[in-house]
Parts: sequence; C-alpha cells; structure tokens
Amino acid sequence: MARPRPPFEGSCLRGAVRVGATVAPLLTFACHCRDCRKLSASASALTAVFPGDSSSCIGDLTEGGLFSSGRRHVFCRSCLNFICSPIAGADQRINLRTSILNDAAPFGPFVALRTGEKLPWAHGPAGHSFSQYPAGPDDLQALMNRCADQ
Ligand SMILES: [Zn+2]
Ligand SMILES: [Zn+2]
Repeated sequence: MARPRPPFEGSCLRGAVRVGATVAPLLTFACHCRDCRKLSASASALTAVFPGDSSSCIGDLTEGGLFSSGRRHVFCRSCLNFICSPIAGADQRINLRTSILNDAAPFGPFVALRTGEKLPWAHGPAGHSFSQYPAGPDDLQALMNRCADQ
C-alpha cells in the first residue's frame, strides 16, 4: 500500500469541524475493541495518528462516548460526527478518525489492534496485529518506525 502523501484535509459531515495534517501519519490502525466498534458503529475504528504540532483540528468540539473505559472521545458539537480520541499521556499526538479525511483511500491500517475482541468475519489489510495494545511506549515507537519505513 502506498504511503499517504501530505498535506491532508478533512472535515466532519457538516463541514463545521476542519482537520488537517502537513506530515505523513505516524501510524494507521484499525482498533477492533468493543468500545471502538460501538463508537464507530462498525467492525473497527480506523485511526490515523499524527504529531500534534503538524496537525490541526478547528471547530466547535464536544466530548462523547462518555462511558468508554478510561478514554476520551471528541465529536463535532454541530453534527456529532466522531472526530478524534485524545490519549492520556500522549498529548503530542492526535488520533484522528481516518474516515473524516477527504481522501481516506491511502490510509489503510498498518496494524490491527485488540484483535482478541475482533468479530470473526472482520478482515483487513493490516500486515501487523496485536491481540491487545502494544505493550508499552517502546513497542509503539518500534511500530511507528516500521510504519515510517514502509
Ligand atoms: Zn479500540
Ligand atoms: Zn460537524
């Protein structure tokens, strides 16, 4: 799969929230956990991880997915489109929902996460998978390095 080429732009369903990034994603993934499936109303949530200082998210936002286990989820206040999920302790990155990008085609998931909870018929193009999450920051960094090398 060809690596996505910046810059990228996207918006919520209404166009009230606008997102952008000026660098390639650090990582792309599909998370198959129960919360992501419910929040995205799909078999997995597709995410593109960008450095916070090379990406933007402009618009009126509100928190949603309020009973998700230990996570925060951000939605457009106007159309309630799922926008991103800030990760505690990783404010330097933004986990953007891939499907709000204007051209999501080049953002196929590099890795599948939480596959231990995956629906048995859910298959994707990810070349790497974890039954849970990567064990720690070093494993995550190694994954991002491999993603950058593709
Ligand atoms: Zn998840
Ligand atoms: Zn919106």
